[in-house]
Amino acid sequence: MVEDPVAKWEEFIRSRYWDELLELADSYPLRRSLSIKFPDIDRYDPEFADELLEKPGPLLEAAETALLEIDLPIDVVLEKAHFRIVGLPRRHKTSELRSDHIGRLIALEGLVRTVTEVRPKVVSAAFECQRCGHLFYKEQTTSKFQEPYDCPNEACDRRGPFKLLLDRSRFVDAQNVRVQESPEELRGGEQPQTLDVQLEDDLSGIIYPGDRVVINGVLRSYQRTTQTGKSTYFDLFLEGNSVEMMEQEFEEIDIKPEDERLIRELSTDPHIYENIRKSIAPSIYGYEEVKEALALQLFSGVSKGLPDGTRIRGDIHILLVGDPGIAKSQLLRYISKLSPRGIYTSGKSSTSAGLTATAVKDELGDGRWSIEAGALVLADKGIACIDEMDKMRSEDRSALHEAMEQQTISVAKAGVMATLKSRCALLAAANPKFGRFDKYEGIAQQINLSPALMSRFDLIFVLTDEPSDARDSQIARHIGQTTYAGEISSRGGYSKEELEAVMDVIRPAIEPEVLRKYIAYARKNVFPVLSDGARERLESYYVNLRKQGQDGNKPVPVTARQLEALFRLSESSARLRLSDEITGGDAERVIRIVEACLRQVGVD
Ligand code: ADP
Ligand code: MG
Repeated sequence: MVEDPVAKWEEFIRSRYWDELLELADSYPLRRSLSIKFPDIDRYDPEFADELLEKPGPLLEAAETALLEIDLPIDVVLEKAHFRIVGLPRRHKTSELRSDHIGRLIALEGLVRTVTEVRPKVVSAAFECQRCGHLFYKEQTTSKFQEPYDCPNEACDRRGPFKLLLDRSRFVDAQNVRVQESPEELRGGEQPQTLDVQLEDDLSGIIYPGDRVVINGVLRSYQRTTQTGKSTYFDLFLEGNSVEMMEQEFEEIDIKPEDERLIRELSTDPHIYENIRKSIAPSIYGYEEVKEALALQLFSGVSKGLPDGTRIRGDIHILLVGDPGIAKSQLLRYISKLSPRGIYTSGKSSTSAGLTATAVKDELGDGRWSIEAGALVLADKGIACIDEMDKMRSEDRSALHEAMEQQTISVAKAGVMATLKSRCALLAAANPKFGRFDKYEGIAQQINLSPALMSRFDLIFVLTDEPSDARDSQIARHIGQTTYAGEISSRGGYSKEELEAVMDVIRPAIEPEVLRKYIAYARKNVFPVLSDGARERLESYYVNLRKQGQDGNKPVPVTARQLEALFRLSESSARLRLSDEITGGDAERVIRIVEACLRQVGVD
């Protein structure tokens, strides 16, 4: 135990953070926070540092007293300055928090899901006794407003009534945010756990839904109340001390040197396209072109910032339209698990935030408005898989136009305004309006999506369930073997040969774990550029498409968006084999996939 923590902090600041403190004093009160790296405290006095982690409450209070009392060469009083501690040794996920952590200083890592408006919160309430006129202050330390019990004036000592004097009370800005585990840390289908965090003063209003953050603070608990009274169960919240943004430093997936060697080796295999295609949803039969397109979506094109400040997305949006029962949902689920930061959701169900984002009241505390992130914000830098997109809410419909092209989502409701990032690829599925697809009708009339929205997809596949003896028996056999393999592996008791024989049917050419690393590696390190040959081929193909499209009855108009789509897809095609150059071969591959889409849409 430190005897005199205020003196200890003063000594620490004088010896290690004096320049930073002078800088703060210079810009005070515009800037009010002194940011201290935990390792510096640890090097200064490891025991003191440990004590800070164990019993942060009194030590953090002492630190702010030290800021107030320390002698400065300039004439300011750091009355409302804060001591912010960053760089704690270990970062926790919400699901790891246990009762042992209560009262300790911890680092919480995650994705911001909801934020409330910033509103004043009273920290020191001024009261006037209506009997004797005595003015006094009551510090507000909990979230429940504390009223005085009796008048502190000895001569009076009566129990009020008291009048709250707003203009004499002291307020700070305050905000609640809800943090959830990052989607890439969840095993398929697991529900993310959330934790609410209280932020005050200059920490409020700086983070938005969809941000990846580390919030350092003290874990607190409060008693739940139910209809029958107080419960023995307690809930947790974090009292925020500092916020670290993770935008840049976020490590996607840990790729070791031996992984890199394996990835490089796989990439030189002449069958790499086939191998990757076969590794996507191997339990689903057929759909070669769709799976090839999904592979390109996983690898993604390259996003580009133009000199005028605008940005062209690299993410590839794909729409699967088709009859019920043809494995659309299965494909989406598979991709959401395979993709780093993949999210699966349905257009009709999901949370109040829906697909984009929304402003909700009362979700997070005291009747304040809060902004909640939907799937496209939470999938930032990943893939949002949206099933039954035709059934989405009307608010989402209009917001999607912006989300798919500018990759931002604007919320403006009841005075709450924010622009959130949604730099994700969209993989959507939709069923035809009338139950089954009629191949003699245009697709635009048969799905409940506007042409403007459809034109934002890079690829649209129409999958129909036409009975065909050969295909049906193939699917039947495939499903039969898949089911059998699943049964065998879960029941056990079969010989190794038997197992090998059935598992061969559904074994991916590249294991999902390896493929995830491969994709992450390529997206991080490979930025291919067009060769002249590829550019010419794509441009002349586009000009031809435009010519064909002029008769005006095409379901989706051919616009410059399609040319961008062609470039994006070929970038991804080159990326897939870790090539820095987009070749004529990439152009041909992409044209073949686009042609397959157009044939199904019924353009020719
Ligand atoms: P959709 O979303 O298109 O209505 P689902 O994804 O729910 O269809 O699929 C229905 C069922 O049919 C799933 O169990 C799926 O595995 C099976 N199925 C349909 N087509 C195939 C196929 N080509 N290969 C393997 N299974 C299939
Ligand atoms: Mg479905």
